[in-house]
Amino acid sequence: MSDEIKLSWKGTLTSKSISLFVGIVTEKKYNNGQIEIKLEGKNFEKNNFESFYLSTVELNCDNSISYIQELSDMEIGDILSVKDRRVRSVYREGSSNNFLFATIRCNSNCLMCSQPPLDVDDTIENYNIWNYTIDIMVSSPKHLTITGGEPTLLGNKLVILINKLTSKFPDLLITILSNGRMLALDSAIETLDQVSNKRNVVFAIPLYSDVYKQHDHIVQAKDAFHQTCLGIHKISSLGFPVEIRIVLHKLSNPRLLSLSKFIHMNFPFVYHITFMGLEIIGYTNANKSQLIEEQSPHSNDNLLDSLNFLAQWKYNVSIYNTPLCHLPEPLWKYAKQSISDWKNGFKEECQKCIKKDDCSGFFTWNLKSATALPFLHEK
Ligand code: SF4
Repeated sequence: MSDEIKLSWKGTLTSKSISLFVGIVTEKKYNNGQIEIKLEGKNFEKNNFESFYLSTVELNCDNSISYIQELSDMEIGDILSVKDRRVRSVYREGSSNNFLFATIRCNSNCLMCSQPPLDVDDTIENYNIWNYTIDIMVSSPKHLTITGGEPTLLGNKLVILINKLTSKFPDLLITILSNGRMLALDSAIETLDQVSNKRNVVFAIPLYSDVYKQHDHIVQAKDAFHQTCLGIHKISSLGFPVEIRIVLHKLSNPRLLSLSKFIHMNFPFVYHITFMGLEIIGYTNANKSQLIEEQSPHSNDNLLDSLNFLAQWKYNVSIYNTPLCHLPEPLWKYAKQSISDWKNGFKEECQKCIKKDDCSGFFTWNLKSATALPFLHEK
């Protein structure tokens, strides 16, 4: 069933409220089935370096949070933030799917947003968390995703973090999940031109239709289509690789082939085109009637035509977050296993499926309503 990894925890704060602490796990002790974690890091309120403790039982010391359930996912080398009585995972040492959360703010409001934006300025806090996290990260990750909200709203701070990361870890590959709208602005392009290792930083930008009104409706923002198309050209002209992402749903499915031809005509330089399964979380739940097709979950004929068209022109194309039993066999070669290990899971029926090892499974939050159709024999 679900293998979802916990990314945030709550407990009882022993000391007075803490505005922000960021630290690295240096000890993990087991005692009669209970777990105690020691962090060493920075208290941003006091601007000093200290230890902080987390436990599944009561702790009688300052700088600690007691009665946290499920500390087993935390490992030595992981980096966590503490604010009041809430603990969040910032960086998981053993994971190949780490992400830098830039901001909860966004300048779009997509119908299927999995992380609905808030009008809260968290940019300085997130910048502080990551500026210090990069200092204490021990080993180089292979890949890091920068996400939000809209990461480009961090402005110059985003460039500082990227340059600090790539200077400490020269082989690191970074993917920025951006709606691309800010990239139409000369001021944003001038700022991003300061990134020193552009070839290692991919901009992954969604485009949902070749019809401007349709794209603008899906992202709930006027002029978004034109801004994003211009942004794709401008950011690519700086030397950043560009990936175009298309989320599969009732509004995007009917024009997938037209959109693929539009991408071929206007953005032949993109290095990757990805088709993504829909996450039933966040705004999608409120917009199900607009987004979910009852009869034909992924309009497979349109998807097959689109992928055949793009593959014939030698584009690098992939399908993410869609299980093999929901795709016709000719599309299996494009299906990639998973983008994020912490949010994919399998149903009970999947255990007997002979394709499980090659399959992405389902988003853990889609599992309840998902239908698995296990393959019991090779065809
Ligand atoms: S039954 Fe499960 S493992 Fe098999 S293809 Fe479907 S989702 Fe994947």
